[in-house]
Amino acid sequence: MGEKTKRIIFATGNEDKLREIRMILEDTDVEIVSMREAGIDADIVEDGATFEENAAIKAKAVMERSGEMVLADDSGLEIDFLDRAPGVYSARFMGTDTSYEIKNNAILETLSGVPDEKRSARFVCAIVCALPDGRLFTCRETMEGRIGYEIRGGNGFGYDPIFYLPECGCYSAELAPEKKNELSHRGKALRSMRDLLRRETII
Ligand code: IMP
Repeated sequence: MGEKTKRIIFATGNEDKLREIRMILEDTDVEIVSMREAGIDADIVEDGATFEENAAIKAKAVMERSGEMVLADDSGLEIDFLDRAPGVYSARFMGTDTSYEIKNNAILETLSGVPDEKRSARFVCAIVCALPDGRLFTCRETMEGRIGYEIRGGNGFGYDPIFYLPECGCYSAELAPEKKNELSHRGKALRSMRDLLRRETII
């Protein structure tokens, strides 16, 4: 598609997320701009109790500052054996400066001796689109799996090396990036949001 006539600000500073959403919206009339490109400098406190609330807090805050259509996401890992922790605290779990090697080993240690059927877990992603007229659209998708028994794979980030995907017979960090985008909570939520905005004739 040539020159795009609509634009949406994606409320993230993460270049990988920007690349992914741009790919997913490639064949639409929408250009995705980062907060920096839109000239928005917002330090937003994500104090919601759910992924949806946090995504809505970010999307609304940036929409109010810019007066434009805004997308924001929030994601994390829920481990059923830990009552769905770390959940919305996934990035802050054990401290933001603690390496994922330490965090992942601590989770494996906590779950040692726990059988397969109690190791169920999922990555969750909520995406909210805030429109200048006040409307909010929300999508939520998951990638279901379980906590494995070791650290495996060199792709991905965060908790990917301990997340086992029974449907693939491998760990999330062993997936090629294209395969991860196809299966992941974030890839699925971004595509759901694209389809929803199309149905609502917003894009
Ligand atoms: P955020 O949505 O960018 O704030 O991500 C929250 C946190 O959830 C990340 O810092 C990771 O700890 C975790 N997380 C979210 N998505 C993934 C994923 O696809 N793989 C591994 N960890 C993830």
